[in-house]
Amino acid sequence: MVETQIISRDIEDKKVINAMKKVPRHLFVAKDLEEDAYNDHPLPIGLGQTISQPYMVAQMTSVLGTCGSSRILEIGTGSGYQASILAELVAEVFTIECIETLAHSAERVVRGLGYENIFMKIGDGTLGWQEHSTYDGILITAATPFFPLPLVEQLKDGGIIVAPIGDKSIQTLTKARKIGNKLHQEQLFDCVFVPLVGRYGWRE
Ligand code: SAH
Repeated sequence: MVETQIISRDIEDKKVINAMKKVPRHLFVAKDLEEDAYNDHPLPIGLGQTISQPYMVAQMTSVLGTCGSSRILEIGTGSGYQASILAELVAEVFTIECIETLAHSAERVVRGLGYENIFMKIGDGTLGWQEHSTYDGILITAATPFFPLPLVEQLKDGGIIVAPIGDKSIQTLTKARKIGNKLHQEQLFDCVFVPLVGRYGWRE
């Protein structure tokens, strides 16, 4: 997977490549999908949600530009795969999931793998996790019409927030750096994610 889908494309960050080699992706999907886990596409994880395509996970991780001492907030734990990749690279990962069943299942896998630097919360991630703020980076792994305000507030000055921004059918992966009270945005490429719901997401 890493050779053909990650290195052969434009991912050069050695640390990201090593993390992708290390985390066993098949453990994050249902037994009957295990064989498909290393293929070049997203997979269903139940309740209408998906684990992102491996290449997308690698790209989002690279765009976030993580470093060893970083504290990252992820919105949309899903299977826990992206959180585990991040946990290989940074000091602490805080991750929020609004669907209880998914959060519990992700927690079992992540604990089974022995990650002690992943902290999970069940709730509306658009509100952030004030208690542990501010964060060096925030990654939203669901489609949103805009960066939710509480998340921008909980981002450190100089920090980076990444999200698929657009409408429900297509989005653009967008990276923004917070400088003072301003976000300096960069639009990267088109992508398709499941919608971010909640107070500052799409109304269901
Ligand atoms: N990062 C995940 C994939 C995320 S799919 C992985 O590695 O597997 C998007 C996830 O965002 C879904 O699980 C969905 O339930 C969750 N989600 C959507 N809106 C949310 C919200 N407001 N707060 C927290 N989680 C949310």
